[in-house]
Amino acid sequence: MNKGRIVILGGAESGIGSAVLAKLKGFDVFLSDKGKISQEYKQTLRKYDINFEEGRHTEELILCADEVIKSPGIPENNEIVLAIRENRIPIISEIEFAGRYDRAKKICITGSNGKTTTTSLIYYMLKNAGLNVGLAGNIGKSYAFQVATEDFDYYVLELSSFQLDGMYSFKADIAILTNITPDHLDRYNYKIQNYVDAKFRIIQNLTQDECFVFCADDPITTSQLDKIVLTAKKLPFTQQKKVEQGAYIDDNKLFVNYKDDEYSMYINELALQGKHNLYNSMAAAIAAKVVNIDKQVIRESLMNFQGVEHRLEKVLTIKGVEYINDSKATNVDSAWYALESMKTPVIWIVGGTDKGNDYTPLYNFVKDKVKAIICLGVDNKKLHENFEDKVDLMIDVDSAKKAVEEAYKLAIPGDTVLLSPCCASFDLFKNYEDRGRQFKEAVRNL
Ligand code: ADP
Repeated sequence: MNKGRIVILGGAESGIGSAVLAKLKGFDVFLSDKGKISQEYKQTLRKYDINFEEGRHTEELILCADEVIKSPGIPENNEIVLAIRENRIPIISEIEFAGRYDRAKKICITGSNGKTTTTSLIYYMLKNAGLNVGLAGNIGKSYAFQVATEDFDYYVLELSSFQLDGMYSFKADIAILTNITPDHLDRYNYKIQNYVDAKFRIIQNLTQDECFVFCADDPITTSQLDKIVLTAKKLPFTQQKKVEQGAYIDDNKLFVNYKDDEYSMYINELALQGKHNLYNSMAAAIAAKVVNIDKQVIRESLMNFQGVEHRLEKVLTIKGVEYINDSKATNVDSAWYALESMKTPVIWIVGGTDKGNDYTPLYNFVKDKVKAIICLGVDNKKLHENFEDKVDLMIDVDSAKKAVEEAYKLAIPGDTVLLSPCCASFDLFKNYEDRGRQFKEAVRNL
């Protein structure tokens, strides 16, 4: 039975998953990628007998689609996307498509920072509680592929604003917005409101039976909430005041209250330390409470969670110096939280492709905590302009290995060497994972 033609743009994780699901649901499927498709993905396409092209977008094969599923990596101003829009063919995201075939309860997480950490923590909690749960979205295996091949009762989905852009009828059961700070503005006509609107798509279609979990200390989120009508239950988390429903901090304890059932634990018992991680732990704990997970399981999970690679990841302590890999800190806000959480003098490795950063929020931390800056980028001029008068020493290097060797020479017992680059990695590395792994390898080779 042919249900119509679905064209998929982009032959990576999300595109391949969408193609497989569409095929299994009986659509006429065609996948097109302007670049190269990896051998492994091509094998999957062949296995499921899916037509595809690579190295080009052939208009005749694409513009006859009934619906297009676009990879979140392809921007709106792409030529073929413009042609599809001109032909009034609906464009959706993988998540929108797969959501149509998924009856599992969906816990969805978006935000500028903290998505992966919060998503992974919630997944860990649900697993510990013995639930049949999948992990997907911006993380791990494609959601569509899992919907096609698995049968979970719950999904924990990490959603980027680009995925949310292509979502219309999809409905979360629990929607979590960690925070909003300016990021990716190049994809939103440099208008923060467009980016805010994209993030807030996470709440679309929520009814009064569903929950919206958000950071009440985040001014952008709260001012947007003032402007809109929300029918879902609001569950805020905050470090600044007490709330009746949601999570808050009092007397060094984290309290979570949902439906008048409260529990608490000391914040120094939490596995993830730092102010930002406290927010992530609070968001995750609320979600777990809504799912009705046993208090003891929530508590033990928050105490034992190992964290996620490249996010304030402790690598090694060598001669009394701790080395931390925070390669995922690709914007000022995430580096702010990293520096905020430092309790010792810091040798800070920073730099890469600047995304129009305003470094002013970091000035005081640098003056108070940073004893040397190692600039790891092709063009470090802006870093020098911002920090030269705030720190005793600045050194330029062009590899993770050199950065680590310089840091090793400068550090004395009790210091921390922190890679928290504040910038994208593409000038010297394949991606932030590559940067983080090269850093770790260099540390291990000291
Ligand atoms: P995302 O998936 O949204 O990029 P991650 O959990 O991968 O978020 O963390 C990215 C970076 O942001 C890391 O450097 C991390 O230390 C920092 N970070 C994590 N949670 C938060 C938060 N709630 N607020 C600000 N920064 C955060």
